[in-house]
Amino acid sequence: TVRTRFAPSPTGYLHLGGARTALYSWAFARHHKGQFILRVEDTDVERSTPEAVQAIMDGMAWLNLDYDEGPFFQMQRMDRYRAMIDKLLEKGDAYLCYCTQEELNQMREKQRENGQRIRYDGTWRPEAGKVLPTPPADVKPVVRFKNPLSGAVTWDDLVKGAISINNEEMDDLIIARQDGTPTYNFCVVVDDWEMKITHVIRGDDHINNTPRQINILKALGGDQPIYGHIPMILGPDGEKLSKRHGAVSVVQYHEEGFLPDAMINYLARLGWSHGDDELFSREQLIEWFDSTNLSKSAAQFDPEKLKWVNAHYMKQAPKEVLLSDLQTRLEKEGVNAFEGPKLADVLDVVLERASTLVQLRDEAALFYKVPSVNVEELKPMLEEAGVRAALAEFNEGLNSVEWNVEALSGLVKTTIKNHGLKMPKLAMPLRLMLTGITQTPSIDKVMNLLGKHTVQTRIAQGLQ
Ligand code: GLU
Repeated sequence: TVRTRFAPSPTGYLHLGGARTALYSWAFARHHKGQFILRVEDTDVERSTPEAVQAIMDGMAWLNLDYDEGPFFQMQRMDRYRAMIDKLLEKGDAYLCYCTQEELNQMREKQRENGQRIRYDGTWRPEAGKVLPTPPADVKPVVRFKNPLSGAVTWDDLVKGAISINNEEMDDLIIARQDGTPTYNFCVVVDDWEMKITHVIRGDDHINNTPRQINILKALGGDQPIYGHIPMILGPDGEKLSKRHGAVSVVQYHEEGFLPDAMINYLARLGWSHGDDELFSREQLIEWFDSTNLSKSAAQFDPEKLKWVNAHYMKQAPKEVLLSDLQTRLEKEGVNAFEGPKLADVLDVVLERASTLVQLRDEAALFYKVPSVNVEELKPMLEEAGVRAALAEFNEGLNSVEWNVEALSGLVKTTIKNHGLKMPKLAMPLRLMLTGITQTPSIDKVMNLLGKHTVQTRIAQGLQ
């Protein structure tokens, strides 16, 4: 069975790139009815934090990416790595290296001078017939992996196709530090092997590690998994995606009013496609997501498209979900939505225009707050010929109009006709007086929800 994993280093939040890697590994496993595993790579003790672990889990929970096993923590598996290092040492596939930092620096210096490739020169590498130096008593050794000298490592990458790297290009990697702690590349190999990972899907920033990992795995006697290296995500300007481009943590997208399903849909398309399909459900994604159609080139993050996708999901979302989200967001802003129009009715009116839940909140809030009207903005509108008189007449007319959208719309139309005005001449100051802003849902709907008393009071105030 297919087994994939997401293996984040807990050194920060779950960013878009990480979320997409998790999503692809998850979707691939789900498609093949396999298992998806979460493994926290926390061996960089200086940079790993419990907060980051939590942030990653929160991000995955929000996106609803469920895992079948884990979270495993590498720091809790040190014994396994030690055992495997000992095994390699015993087999002669690894060796102790006593080079000091100073010696290594000199080595590199010389190589640089001679125009050679910078690499470990094999001083302590045992070879048949070679006499090794005597270990210095005052130096603690590191453990190096004995990388093959000839031949090549090849794999058929799910994304990039066939890849072949000559062993000559690799040197003997340190797999345990002086203090005995295993290094990153080594832990990954042991874990992928022991966790029976069949498909390693990860960012292509790891592609240089892959041939090294394959060699170590072979020495340990493990089966080579299938690798897929997905290209990174670029910002809208073509640069590597970073903080400059706005929100970077997926949970921040929650705060900014995006729905998890929209995020999943959008991220899925960022490096994968299914014909011309732009909008698809989670079920469809699982049905369609195999390794064909993974894109070889870097994808560009497009915030506008994300909003478009989100707007679609908002319109599809169950009303109760939107209502309870709206309620929470309004409360957070200190808006009391219990007095005034029914929130469900407000939702109906603002939903068609909003593409994020935050926009929804802001537009809904207009119905519950006393607007602060900018007089400087209102004044010139009222000074236009006929506008004042029209508004006064309109306010008067409200006394006898039936209170529903059609009747209100009818009264607006009669008023502008009577005064020879174009619609915006009346609608703009009206919007401003009633809500404090000029961009609102259609004015008849707004008035209908605000109710007669509020509308008449605000118009009267605005005309003062
Ligand atoms: N821990 C690595 C990272 O966060 C991922 C390693 C892997 O997927 O093999 O970049």
